Amino acid sequence: MENNLKNTLREAGFNFKKRLGQNFITDKNLLASIVRGAGVTKSDTVVEIGCGAGALTRVLSENAAKVLGFEVDVGLKPVLSRALEGADNTEIIYGDFLKADLKSLEQKLGGYSVVANIPYYVTTPLITKILEESKLCRSMTVMVQEEVALRLCAKPATPEYGAITAAVALRASAEIIKKVPREMFTPRPNVDSAVVKMVIEDGRIKVKDPVLYKKTVHAAFQSRRKTLENNLVGYFGLSRGEAQKILAAAEILPRARGETLSPAQFARLADVIFEFSSRN
Ligand code: SAM
Repeated sequence: MENNLKNTLREAGFNFKKRLGQNFITDKNLLASIVRGAGVTKSDTVVEIGCGAGALTRVLSENAAKVLGFEVDVGLKPVLSRALEGADNTEIIYGDFLKADLKSLEQKLGGYSVVANIPYYVTTPLITKILEESKLCRSMTVMVQEEVALRLCAKPATPEYGAITAAVALRASAEIIKKVPREMFTPRPNVDSAVVKMVIEDGRIKVKDPVLYKKTVHAAFQSRRKTLENNLVGYFGLSRGEAQKILAAAEILPRARGETLSPAQFARLADVIFEFSSRN
């Protein structure tokens, strides 16, 4: 970590809080490559979740039109204020992003992208919140644990493919843009990381009821050892005959396992279940 930031943190009496996922990055090249990879331009509004000591926030403020940062740890206020001196296009909200009202935030912001080195203990809830609540988010470029990055971008029928993969795929295409070794963070975490870019393209997979899509995916991954038919029976309380009819109507093989279905197949299955439940 660069000495001046270390000194600033020491002078502010700051102690890293593991429970808040505080692993900071200061390497200027890494920060610049995240911002470049996110495709941030001078006309963009960027939301950063978890500003930490403000190293990424500063680079974002230099490359974007406007930056709105969230930081839950009020103890970082003096450090952040100093790191962001003169960054007039940047506003920090000291609070929990998970509790933020995205609807009113978006009324204020207009279209935006998320760029963040997110706290790992809330990776799934953060990504899910944006996927489910945002209307104006265009992309998310986030540093996550490498293992999670592989899951976000996984292909069907691989061990990494799971409910979160299918949830992301409904609204976004996801790719790993950079692998980041653990040595790049202070303090050093126990895992390597990767930057994933998710570009939101609404309507890339059409589904009648997104909530039912989520439930269908959840049902399919409830027990990986069971067939999809068995999982549907257990989750939706269907008879075996009903589950078989639904699978046939969705053109899915009777013995298929959930993890082999593409997101488009999950959408077709959810639509058939939707029709079935509106008839019954
Ligand atoms: N952006 C900085 C960097 O790249 O060096 C810090 C990243 S650090 C991995 C994650 C930051 O998120 C920490 O500063 C932590 O306090 C903050 N944080 C943790 N939970 C949060 C939440 N629910 N909402 C907003 N910030 C949170």
